[in-house]
Amino acid sequence: LPERYKGTEKNIWVEFIQLALEHKPLNLGQGFPDYGCPKHVTEGLAEVMHDPNLLLNQYTRGYGHPRLVNALAKLYSGLLDRTIDPFTEVLVSQGAYGCLYNAILGHVKPGDEVIIIEPFFDCYQPMVKIAGGTPVFVPLRPRQDAAARADGALSSADWVLDPAELRAAFGPRTKMIILNTPNNPLGKVFTRPELELIAELCQSHNALCLSDEVYEWMVFKPAEHIRIAGLPGMWDRTITVGSAGKTFSVTGWKLGWAYGPAKLMHNLQVVHQNTLYTCSTPLQEALARSFEHEMSLMGSPECYFTSLANDELRPKRDYMAQFLTDCGMKPVIPEGGYFMVADWTSLDKSKIDLSPYTPGKPDDHRFVYWLVHHHKLQGIPPSSFYSAEHKKLAEHYIRFCFIKDDKNLEKAESILKELK
Ligand code: PMP
Ligand code: GLN
Repeated sequence: LPERYKGTEKNIWVEFIQLALEHKPLNLGQGFPDYGCPKHVTEGLAEVMHDPNLLLNQYTRGYGHPRLVNALAKLYSGLLDRTIDPFTEVLVSQGAYGCLYNAILGHVKPGDEVIIIEPFFDCYQPMVKIAGGTPVFVPLRPRQDAAARADGALSSADWVLDPAELRAAFGPRTKMIILNTPNNPLGKVFTRPELELIAELCQSHNALCLSDEVYEWMVFKPAEHIRIAGLPGMWDRTITVGSAGKTFSVTGWKLGWAYGPAKLMHNLQVVHQNTLYTCSTPLQEALARSFEHEMSLMGSPECYFTSLANDELRPKRDYMAQFLTDCGMKPVIPEGGYFMVADWTSLDKSKIDLSPYTPGKPDDHRFVYWLVHHHKLQGIPPSSFYSAEHKKLAEHYIRFCFIKDDKNLEKAESILKELK
């Protein structure tokens, strides 16, 4: 294995998908919907297959199928109130993963430091390492006063950065900060003042911001998704990443996009053209049509960008929070995304013997194995989203995914009742 990949051999998704295959638990681990997406999305793909234009089955433009980059440019031009050029300021790649890879490999050089806010989507760390960069971790921590509040309910908004700690992480070698809002796994939606601090530090240290916004449409009111690229002075130094899998609930499509100023996007194009070159044409065509459809509904309650969070996910979130509380865990109510972390250490410990499972690993990792073995329910250990030095911060928690069929959430509830 080349040196640059050393230390990246383990991957939580490989590990936990294997665990699920072996034990066939009720899987609230990996984040994907186990039920439908909007009908027009899959029907649109079927229509593409019947389209007389057979060229839709051949290679398309490398940096993104023209109809799709046009739709994306139109959407984000409106959202950011600026004209985005579809051909120089938008890139389509293989999922948000592909875009993150292009952005990190295209900008980070050996010797550069990259600030990663914890908890973080796990692939950021290996990508920075492969690029030769050094990650600098800054954790979100629960506010001291939060746990002591009268109702005892915790919200992802209670997880905050220490401004002094964040400021201290920036230095002359800082190339980039990676932001993820709404955050996976916490569901935290960064507030305007929090983003303004990040923006100020990026500008005073001449650093880039890589903003992973794959959950941009899954935000629960009163929280509001703010695109850092739209803050004063930030367009020129921000690359924003989105995902078709998340936006339209089709994670298997594995299409993602990045947008930003042409001078920054150029580097992503170079990495993309030398790795994947281009992505699937029929999927990009269908995705473009899906965007066009939803953009025609923008602002109405039926638009999937609105209904997904308000009508579909919010009741599931509230239901999960209730049954986790009923079984004796302490959920952290997410403001966005479709994951919920819950403190499991309030459960009856006399029933939980972690000793046979993954010795040496953090307790949350061992608890996930215990839960699969004893109750056939799978979650993800949040310590996987922390650097080695900060994994302790996550040991009390387990992450569950709630974009699941209500029947499966009900099954989870009845399994968890056994823990009482
Ligand atoms: N970023 C975050 C925060 C994620 O949760 C995920 C998982 N889907 C990705 C990026 C990767 O997305 P994709 O499946 O589009 O590659
Ligand atoms: N983003 C999803 C999650 O956090 C899926 C990740 C993956 O499949 N690698 O569960």
